[in-house]
Amino acid sequence: RAARSSGEAVREYLPTMGQIFLRRFQLVTQFRQALETGQVKVHYQPKVALPSRQVLGVEALVRWRHPEFGKLDPDEFVPAVEAAGLVDALTGFVMDQSLQRVRKWLDRGLRISAAVNLSVRSLDDASFPERVAEALTRHGVPPELLTLELTESGVMADPQRALPVLRALHALGVVLAVDDFGTGYSSLAYLRQLPVDEVKIDKSFVLGMGTDLGDHAVVRSIVELGHSLGLTVVAEGVEDDLARDQLNAMGCDVAQGYLISRPLSESRLEAWLQARTTQARGMRDEMVLTL
Ligand code: C2E
Ligand code: MG
Ligand code: MG
Ligand code: MG
Repeated sequence: RAARSSGEAVREYLPTMGQIFLRRFQLVTQFRQALETGQVKVHYQPKVALPSRQVLGVEALVRWRHPEFGKLDPDEFVPAVEAAGLVDALTGFVMDQSLQRVRKWLDRGLRISAAVNLSVRSLDDASFPERVAEALTRHGVPPELLTLELTESGVMADPQRALPVLRALHALGVVLAVDDFGTGYSSLAYLRQLPVDEVKIDKSFVLGMGTDLGDHAVVRSIVELGHSLGLTVVAEGVEDDLARDQLNAMGCDVAQGYLISRPLSESRLEAWLQARTTQARGMRDEMVLTL
C-alpha cells in the first residue's frame, strides 16, 4: 500500500472531469436547500482605519459546510451558483444576514458598516437596486452603512452595461467599492467615469509588497491615484506589521487581513468586538473600537 508509484497516486487523487462536473451539479442542485437548512453561513472580516485602527466595518464572506464535501470556500461554489442563475438567492441571503447584524450594532450604539460582495450578474438586473433599497428599509439600516463590492474584472468587462445599475445603487447612498483592484486591465483614470467610492487593492500586491519592489510600487501608485480621484483606499491581505506600517506610511485609509483578524463566525465576531470595545474619551454615547 505504501509503495505506490506517483503515477497511481495522481490517478487516484486528481478528480476526473466527470467527478468535477458531478460535484458542481450537486452543489448547484443542493444550494437553495443549503441556504434554508443553515449549511450556508456568513462569516465577517473586520476592516480597520489606518492609523487609528478603529473598526469601521466588516466584509461578509460566505461559507458552506457541506454534509458530504466538508467546509467549502466561496471560490469552490460561488462560480457554479452564478452560472446556474442562483446568485440572487445568495446575495439576498448575505445582505439580509449582514443588515441584521448592522442593525443590532446600531441598537447598541455602534456604527459598523457591512460590505457585501456582488456578482457582476446583478449589474444586468435593473430591479436589483430596488431590492437593495427594500432590504435597507426592512432592516432599518441607513444606506451609508452598506458597502457593495464588485470585482474590477467584473465591472470593467463591460462598464457601459454596468453603468445604469451602478448609478441607481449610488443614488441610494450605498458605498460602492471596486474589489481586487490591480488584477484587471483597467486604468485607475477610467474609474473616474464610474460612480464608485472605494477601491480595494488586490491582496496579491499587498502580500508581496514587503519583499517585491514591483508590488510595493503598484500599491503605492494605487493609493496615490485613488486619493487623487477622491476614493477611499482599502488594502486587503494585510498579514504582518511590515505591510501595515508600509501602508500607513503611504497614507492608505483602511486595512483588512489576517493581521487584524481572519473572517469570523457571527459569535466569534461578537466576542472579538466585545474584547475591543472601549468607552470613547470625550464622546457621549458613541463607542469607539480599537485594536
Ligand atoms: P474577496 O471579496 O476579495 O475577499 C477577500 C478574500 O481574501 C477572502 O477569501 C478572505 O478570506 C481572504 N483574505 C482576507 N484577509 C487575508 C489575508 O490577510 N491573507 C490572505 N491570504 N487572504 C486573506 P474568501 O472568503 O475565500 O472569499 C473569496 C472570494 O469569494 C471573495 O474575494 C469574493 O470575491 C467571493 N465571495 C465571498 N463571499 C461572497 C458572496 O457572498 N457573494 C459573492 N458573489 N462572492 C463572494
Ligand atoms: Mg470582497
Ligand atoms: Mg478582493
Ligand atoms: Mg477575490
